[in-house]
Amino acid sequence: MAHRRFSALLALSAVLFSLPLLINASAVRAKSTNGSFIVDRVRTNDPVVFITIDDGSVITDGLVQLLLSRKIPVANFVLSEALKTHWKALHRIQRPGTSFENHSETHRLMSSLSLKEQTSEICRANEHVRGNYKKVPVFFRPPGGSHNSNTVIAAKQCGIKKIVMWNVEADQGKIVRSGGGSIQRGDIILLHYLNSLESSLKVVLAEIKRLGLRPASLRDYLDPAPAVTPTPTTTSTTLG
Ligand SMILES: [Zn+2]
Repeated sequence: MAHRRFSALLALSAVLFSLPLLINASAVRAKSTNGSFIVDRVRTNDPVVFITIDDGSVITDGLVQLLLSRKIPVANFVLSEALKTHWKALHRIQRPGTSFENHSETHRLMSSLSLKEQTSEICRANEHVRGNYKKVPVFFRPPGGSHNSNTVIAAKQCGIKKIVMWNVEADQGKIVRSGGGSIQRGDIILLHYLNSLESSLKVVLAEIKRLGLRPASLRDYLDPAPAVTPTPTTTSTTLG
């Protein structure tokens, strides 16, 4: 029953994503650079885009096969509950270039919470990811894109290096870029672990191949830890 409520909550939150995409992503875009703490796309001259997948209510075998066979680097913003529910599938998709990041513990809207509550949501989610993958998240994506100045303070207190928004959303065969037009290099693409993900991802992969782009690892380009030119881990990525 708890799982059913969890899935219903995620399905509802996915429907509501179009609104924060318009409000938050466009507001951030004007000032976002790779040095910003909050980013919604990556400044790069490389022909790359970034696949990010949120939540985790449904993870199908077909999707796992697709991610593995095409060697797609993914930044996963999976909730703590999904880490438990889909432990096996999520461990199977681990490969170089794929990372597990922070999407809060319970998917509450950050702007509705106090600083203390936001810090608890983010730090506790960090611990769940570290408990599962032995690595601490470096990116935080606020549920629904909702954030305020306390979110930045809370994220930094939890050791997060960047708040990662998005500027492209893909679902149900549709690709919507904030500001319109086709996907461009550096775009951060938002998808969700839903039944529709496998087909949505195929549409995205076909489109970025058509545009001469390829998926790359977000950490290679945005994790400021190595002060050297990033070495993309996607040279062997196959698109078909
Ligand atoms: Zn979410």
